[in-house]
Amino acid sequence: MRTTSSLAELRELRASMRGIFGLVPTMGALHAGHASLVKRAQSECEHVGVSIFVNPAQFGAGEDFSNYPRPVQNDLALLESLGVDVVWTPAVESMYPPGFQTWITVEELAEPLEGKCRPGHFRGVATVVAKLFNAFTPDKGYFGQKDAQQVAVLRRMVRDLGFPVEIVVCATMREKDGLAISSRNAYLSPTERQAATVLYRALVAAKDKYDGGERNAEALRAIMRAIVRSEPLAYEQYVSAADPETLCELQKIDNPVLLSLAVRIGKARLIDNFLLGP
Ligand code: AMP
Repeated sequence: MRTTSSLAELRELRASMRGIFGLVPTMGALHAGHASLVKRAQSECEHVGVSIFVNPAQFGAGEDFSNYPRPVQNDLALLESLGVDVVWTPAVESMYPPGFQTWITVEELAEPLEGKCRPGHFRGVATVVAKLFNAFTPDKGYFGQKDAQQVAVLRRMVRDLGFPVEIVVCATMREKDGLAISSRNAYLSPTERQAATVLYRALVAAKDKYDGGERNAEALRAIMRAIVRSEPLAYEQYVSAADPETLCELQKIDNPVLLSLAVRIGKARLIDNFLLGP
């Protein structure tokens, strides 16, 4: 495995690799979710690259940018054990040099849900992923369904700007009790960790209703809301039953539906979703 923080060296390494190249963008603090993306990429690509970059542009003021975990040595050991070809760890100053002023804004898709709670978040995400695509020139980019709105925004960006990259979406990896694995779960105390299953419980309850034939989207939002509100340590940010492509809230469900929610528990802001339907 080759590791570099230099763009020039990354480009040289990349140029020496023939065949399908897959990129897994990450912010580090790697866990089984990231590993599943790497393994999926390895099953479909000749070479796999991983970026580790805690992107300041996607954190709002008062968010956890400075506290975000950065266990770089552990991350590199994990990627080495997985057999990744190349890891890029660029510095903030090289990604955003003095005078930086070019941003990618995906408009409507970035507005609701996470976009409303985290203004500017998707501008940061789209811009950094465009820079990562330019640096690695991957054939495929691997992303988690856990960040469903991110997937919708990046698919739109790739179509609109003509990046020759296929976006591959990978299933959400979960703990035994259903909690979606996340680097931010480390912020939870043991009691908060127990309360954090509320996201999964809310999604399962809504899915049960859906499986029983419920097609009124408000009924599904209501059951998720009720379960979140029954958990004293959880503060609801939003619950949603939306069209997975447009992210518009649905009334009646006749196509796939994206159930999603964001909840604050202690210092952690947690998100999760289920994609249901044909
Ligand atoms: P992050 O390091 O949080 O930016 O995540 C890097 C990538 O891993 C993103 O595409 C995430 O959607 C994906 N990811 C994060 N958590 C999980 C998970 N539990 N299961 C699958 N993919 C995940």
